[in-house]
Amino acid sequence: YTEDVQAYVSEVYETVKRRNPNESEFHQAVKEVFDSLLPVFEKHPQYIKQAVLERIVEPERIISFRVPWVDDQGNVQVNRGFRVQFNSALGPYKGGLRFHPSVNASIIKFLGFEQIFKNALTGQPIGGGKGGSDFDPKGKSDGEIMRFTQSFMSELSKYIGPDTDVPAGDIGVGAKEIGYMFGQYKKMRGGFQAGVLTGKGIDYGGSLARKEATGYGTVYFVEEMIKENGFSFAGSTVVVSGSGNVSIYAMEKAMQLGAKVIACSDSSGYVYDKNGIDLSTVKRLKEVEGKRISEYVNEHPHAHYFQGCAGIWSVPCDIALPCATQNEIDETAAKILVSNGVKAVGEGANMPSTLEAVKVFQKHDVLFAPAKAANAGGVSVSALEMAQNSARLAWTFAEVDGKLQEIMKNIYRESKEAAADYDAPGNLVVGANIAGFVKVADAMIAHGVI
Ligand code: GLU
Repeated sequence: YTEDVQAYVSEVYETVKRRNPNESEFHQAVKEVFDSLLPVFEKHPQYIKQAVLERIVEPERIISFRVPWVDDQGNVQVNRGFRVQFNSALGPYKGGLRFHPSVNASIIKFLGFEQIFKNALTGQPIGGGKGGSDFDPKGKSDGEIMRFTQSFMSELSKYIGPDTDVPAGDIGVGAKEIGYMFGQYKKMRGGFQAGVLTGKGIDYGGSLARKEATGYGTVYFVEEMIKENGFSFAGSTVVVSGSGNVSIYAMEKAMQLGAKVIACSDSSGYVYDKNGIDLSTVKRLKEVEGKRISEYVNEHPHAHYFQGCAGIWSVPCDIALPCATQNEIDETAAKILVSNGVKAVGEGANMPSTLEAVKVFQKHDVLFAPAKAANAGGVSVSALEMAQNSARLAWTFAEVDGKLQEIMKNIYRESKEAAADYDAPGNLVVGANIAGFVKVADAMIAHGVI
């Protein structure tokens, strides 16, 4: 690429680093997108003239707030809440809320930034946002979780709405937390505005297949990618990190397609079951009983539990689906996967592979499905939930699942075509970034300088 374009992109990147000091995750997410965009600026100098890049890295708004709550001992606790309203060029801000002790401005900004392009790829009318808190739900009672989420929503309710910003779940935020937040929003703002949150319970405006959507979508996407390369989930061995909502339904769909899933994990360690993971045990332990994955071996004594979640990448497999959290596959883990013969990697979590890990996969011709594209199924069905709420109707599971499959196929096709159009055939990282960016950039230009 010409020196001018390279100098321009690296100058904007330096500005991002200077304006957002010590936010390594945000820098990483920005760098990954920027590295893909050089050919776009080469071909379309109007994006440079319109300062789209400078504008897109600056959130439209960042809200940061105090979340005080009372624990079961009667002590007052204080957490920090965030909502980053990153980009509304394509629709209302849309993106999850994460409750995890690691949450800070950098994490929420990286997630919000990714969400802009992911949401654009879905083809649904949604902008990008993200939020959350450093509250740790682990070990908290139901009452504590309810009081915390109510306090969180008391403040957040001032900034969201069905046509402005529509949060959903993410790590640490499932149907229960969404329920408490929906109740609090209804109480604060009045009126039954179903479209203010997605991932709701089915009885009060939730969509069938939303729970399954991220995991199923990842598998649909990867199946599309590997089919073109002569293999499929049928007959493949699969390792899926995590054992939360994304992981469980990625395992379920992979199994339905005929794969053998031999390992899954939580933040403490991983389970290896050479006979294939028994999903009903994982579902009960994690969705009903709130237990650790280590308990799996009590019921399946032939299986093995290993402490430390990173070790899961040393389990040889054909397909690896990182569905736990950011940066869970580093360069070393990627090299181990490659030397054990992994053929495809599909990212169910957000940014689970470091920049170095992605390079390792690409160098060794491992088929790689990047998060923005591969995990877009969750937010896609969230958009379908918004559509159902607006129309005041409810689609069947099969209808929603059918639309999800179509959306994932389209994202695959668009990413592949963009990669080919911009001289990076087969590189879905580049393709997804470009396909997402161009839609947002064109809408921003259409809206004028705002
Ligand atoms: N948290 C999910 C994601 O990372 C879903 C967001 C949503 O449904 O709004 O895309």
